Amino acid sequence: MVDLPKIANVVVVGGGVIGLSVARSLALRGLRDVLVIERGSLGAESSFAAAGMLAPQAEADRADKFFELCRQSRDLYPAFAASLRDETGIDVELETTGTLYLAFTEEDVNELEERYEWQSRAGLAIEKLSAEAARQLEPAISENVRTALRFSLDMQVENRRLVRALAVANETLGVGIVTETAVESIKLDRGCVAGVKTSGGLVTTDTVVMAGGAWTSLITVSEQTTADKNQSDCNTPDKAFRSVRIEPVRGQMLSFTTAPQIARHVIYSPRGYIVPRSDNRLLAGSTTEHVGFAKQVTDEGVRSITAAAVEISPQIASLPLTESWAGLRPRAPDNLPVLGPCAEIAGVFYATGHYRNGILLAPITGELIAQAIVDKVVAPALNEFSPDRFSVVNVT
Ligand SMILES: Cc1cc2nc3c(=O)[nH]c(=O)nc-3n(C[C@H](O)[C@H](O)[C@H](O)COP(=O)(O)OP(=O)(O)OC[C@H]3O[C@@H](n4cnc5c(N)ncnc54)[C@H](O)[C@@H]3O)c2cc1C
Repeated sequence: MVDLPKIANVVVVGGGVIGLSVARSLALRGLRDVLVIERGSLGAESSFAAAGMLAPQAEADRADKFFELCRQSRDLYPAFAASLRDETGIDVELETTGTLYLAFTEEDVNELEERYEWQSRAGLAIEKLSAEAARQLEPAISENVRTALRFSLDMQVENRRLVRALAVANETLGVGIVTETAVESIKLDRGCVAGVKTSGGLVTTDTVVMAGGAWTSLITVSEQTTADKNQSDCNTPDKAFRSVRIEPVRGQMLSFTTAPQIARHVIYSPRGYIVPRSDNRLLAGSTTEHVGFAKQVTDEGVRSITAAAVEISPQIASLPLTESWAGLRPRAPDNLPVLGPCAEIAGVFYATGHYRNGILLAPITGELIAQAIVDKVVAPALNEFSPDRFSVVNVT
């Protein structure tokens, strides 16, 4: 950690998995004086709360641009994890056993059948399993399973170790990291980024990456001087900024202790999932709640997550519940990530709105945002996710 510098080449707002991944990619491309500013501690929000599933196929209903982005990012993970290990010595526990998806009702069976149809037609790795075949792979699953899918290429990662590895990698690469410091507003000069105003003072920069997760939309554009107002249409940047609305969506998680571990795969049903970890924790999730910035765990949350986990494996009913927590997923109005430069404010790049898939999308987000900043090339893969899609100004 460093003291707040007065000037930086690029300021990354937010030290979650996304901000840290972008900063590392910028430094790997040779950019110097990259600065991450984090309001609290690194990775202590949604990136800490997550289950670490890298499972683009398990819940996808069609092959669209978002699915492609997720699949590409998953496929980057083995090299991403290996590089982080080389850079830091930290093993992020990439687990490649695959994902099982179980059906218990007629409706579940139909849902799985549709997924199997489109994914096998698209040539994706997917297997349909009878209940018996699924139980051979995972003996602890319920007798009530009717059928299952196996996604052999989906993976999981220990997301808390991932955050630690990214933090160490950034420090090793010379990225400045300042914690306990909030970015309050972006300062503009004639419609372009001139700096960021923080709780610790002003940092001059011409490039800002908005990676503040669920809190991204609380950051404002700071007042311009009268002289600036005369030289630019200062409403436009402000409107452009306000048009990207990221909201928090609470997800609660439970952790049971089990020795020996009762599952090898990440196992989903349409009502929940369980994630076995190598340290004998069994994670279970989650809820999807629109309750603002409240991060409490509730009795109803514990009840519904436990019920979904016990449906998957009745053995879970007798396991001790050792930990529970909640996190706030950053969600844009159309559920898609917000990635790339903002057309109306030169120097602002978004890397947010990753909602349910920020751990999965961290490697590709880092790569594509760093490419956009350093090489000034916006990859076609980003077009669909541009912040400009929310702009109130329609160009005809
Ligand atoms: C219960 C749960 C389960 C999940 N499971 C998965 C999963 O299995 N797989 C998956 O891919 N994704 C999962 N997710 C989603 C994933 O956690 C998020 O998409 C991802 O962590 C978003 O990363 P982020 O860096 O954008 O946000 P965060 O991790 O929330 O980081 C944003 C950071 O910005 C900081 N910040 C905000 N405002 C400011 C400011 N003004 N100044 C300075 N700093 C600021 C915050 O303090 C925070 O540290 C899950 C989420 C939850 C809640």
